[in-house]
Amino acid sequence: MFQKKLFIILLVVSLVGCTKTKDPIESKIDALLSQMTLQEKIGQMNQLTGTGLSKDMLGQIKAGKVGSILNELDLKTTNELQRLAVKESRMGIPLIFARDVIHGFKTIFPIPLGQAATWNTHLVESGARVAAVEATSTGIRWTFAPMIDIARDPRWGRIAESCGEDPYLTSQMGAAMIKGFQGEKLSDPTSMAACAKHFAGYGATESGKDYNTTWIPELLLRDVYLPPFKTAVDAGVASFMCSFNDINGVPSSGNKFLNRQILRKEWNYSGVLVSDWASIEQMIKHGVCADLKDASRKAIQGGVDMDMMSYAYIRHAEELVKSGAVSEKQIDEAVRNILRLKFRLGLFDHPYMKEPAKMPFYSEDALRKAKQTAIESAVLLKNDKDILPLTHDIKSVAVIGPLSDAPADQLGTWCFDAEPSHSITPLKAIQQLCGSKVKVISEMGLTYSRDTNTPGIAKAVRAASKADVILLFVGEEAVLSGEAHCRADICLPGAQPELVAALKNTGKPVVMVVMAGRPLTIGKEVSEADAVLYAFHGGTMAGPALADLIFGNAVPSGKLPVTLPRMVGQVPIYYAHKMTGRPAEKIVMIDNIPVGAGQTSLGNTSYHLDAGDSPLFPFGFGLSYSKFNYTDVKISKKELSDGQTLQVTCNITNTGKYDADEVAQFYVRDLVASLARPVRELKGFQKIHLRTGETKTVTFTLDSDQLAFWNAELVKKAEPGNFQVWISSDSQTGKPATFKYL
Ligand code: BGC
Repeated sequence: MFQKKLFIILLVVSLVGCTKTKDPIESKIDALLSQMTLQEKIGQMNQLTGTGLSKDMLGQIKAGKVGSILNELDLKTTNELQRLAVKESRMGIPLIFARDVIHGFKTIFPIPLGQAATWNTHLVESGARVAAVEATSTGIRWTFAPMIDIARDPRWGRIAESCGEDPYLTSQMGAAMIKGFQGEKLSDPTSMAACAKHFAGYGATESGKDYNTTWIPELLLRDVYLPPFKTAVDAGVASFMCSFNDINGVPSSGNKFLNRQILRKEWNYSGVLVSDWASIEQMIKHGVCADLKDASRKAIQGGVDMDMMSYAYIRHAEELVKSGAVSEKQIDEAVRNILRLKFRLGLFDHPYMKEPAKMPFYSEDALRKAKQTAIESAVLLKNDKDILPLTHDIKSVAVIGPLSDAPADQLGTWCFDAEPSHSITPLKAIQQLCGSKVKVISEMGLTYSRDTNTPGIAKAVRAASKADVILLFVGEEAVLSGEAHCRADICLPGAQPELVAALKNTGKPVVMVVMAGRPLTIGKEVSEADAVLYAFHGGTMAGPALADLIFGNAVPSGKLPVTLPRMVGQVPIYYAHKMTGRPAEKIVMIDNIPVGAGQTSLGNTSYHLDAGDSPLFPFGFGLSYSKFNYTDVKISKKELSDGQTLQVTCNITNTGKYDADEVAQFYVRDLVASLARPVRELKGFQKIHLRTGETKTVTFTLDSDQLAFWNAELVKKAEPGNFQVWISSDSQTGKPATFKYL
């Protein structure tokens, strides 16, 4: 009887399935495609940079030769260009206006690396939402963010734009940004299509030099570099962008394996894939294409839908189709993806952006969120004798350093639309917070981060000697990180090390705040300071955020999204490394080697004589003004079967003096597997609030799928055996518990 019923239900379900009508958007695309000429289709695949209302641009739009325009910001111009496309081109297909809105449009949030340090996905999502509301008011409906390239080399300038070294953290942050940019519905006028970039492996660039070669074995690619992109697909990201680099010899813009096999076939992705800026043309320089026509062919065959600024498609695609080198079907697929995005954004129904009565920039809500994000992005690395937060008995502070009053530099990289006049610097914020209660003496010492002109240091020392505490703001100018702004040496630039040493010599307590676009090698300076806050480039509200942290109106809760090396020679250095056959046990540092030691063995294990085997600060590390105690790690079962889950719990108590947030991190290690596995891998995190004295139990659910990795047969599978799990406050500490996967 039961079986008969089931049969009837299945029959009904399948009949309904059969009669299901085609998605109306796809039918509309079919109708458009059937009327478009080949040249008009190719026009949709062409993205150009804005040239205002130039004659040339107007002509191209009318002729249906442009699908999208980037970097056009004036709303009146945008609407006029749109009018031409909609009313004066034969097919009337609207344009999409795009821009790199990376960590804010007008209200600038911390750089993405700083946002990742918050480990707070809600906050990060709300920041992207603010950016979308501000940017869409000027007609922008497509942002080229988030950048979810795994970055394990701090020399690479674009590490600033990344979420750091870890695939899980990057995946979560990327998904949060996508949600924020795209909002509830793409068709909402305040939604922007997000773009997962750069596909793929761009962060593995050799020597941390931008656009350089990458060599990434497929296992590593799939285990480390691709997961954030897969998560982006699952989060509904509307577009992808190719990367500039060649990966194992094949530039991404012509990479069938990445773009067709993985993105389209394995992940079934139906969004737009846009090239990077002129990256199709650059395949000629890579030495894999003879000329622009050849590059155009390779990119179309390689699955790139839209050509950003190479003019390769518009110049050559038609003859390539006519000669049979590429098929019209390939063109149709690309155009279908582009038109689908335009329909999803609602551009056919609402092509124009209404001019708001008042531009929605720098709203109170936006500034509050930017400040909160800057607060949570600062990582407390050191706090000797609990010098921070500064207490009421402080009568005077000396605010020193090239980043103390640098409104443009605190915004960091990638904020073309920001207005530094809106930045509140640490000096201004401290002066405001201190009012008449605490005397604020200010002397920059050095005028910019690379300044080597040292007379200012003596002045800074004189100013410092008059104060109770030195608040020292060092770091990098914005121009030292970001695209094509890579450094071979990642020390504090200019005479800043001398400035730190001179201030230390005053004998006054030194609170050092580092504002930078990347991890810097600051071991010596950290040892000279009494307290260190690593604040990245914190954006418009960096000053008030830091003032609140320093004076105890807020408690630090940031955790490093990337390892801080002691020396640049340790790079690449990341927590999820594999174990060598000779792990460092006994370490003899270079200064302890006896003179005349000859060929004496120094342990024959894996370490550097001059750097040892540990980073300066590990991934996940970050102190609070309070203290947290992790106890009672428990696992719900000792054995886990395929398809099952288990719970790992732990009690966390705030044993310190401040109500505070803590990020509980959940790590796993596969102890014996067919391939060597990382010593720990992040599988979850929770940011919790604990009042002083309060205990909370955190629970992480582990699914057997999370144990899987890509094996030598290129199959993703969990292997039976013992596993360790940690719930800990960073990637190095905590006591593991064990279970067996059957
Ligand atoms: C960058 C991309 C960016 C594009 C458009 C390129 O140079 O690599 O990330 O989206 O320019 O501005």
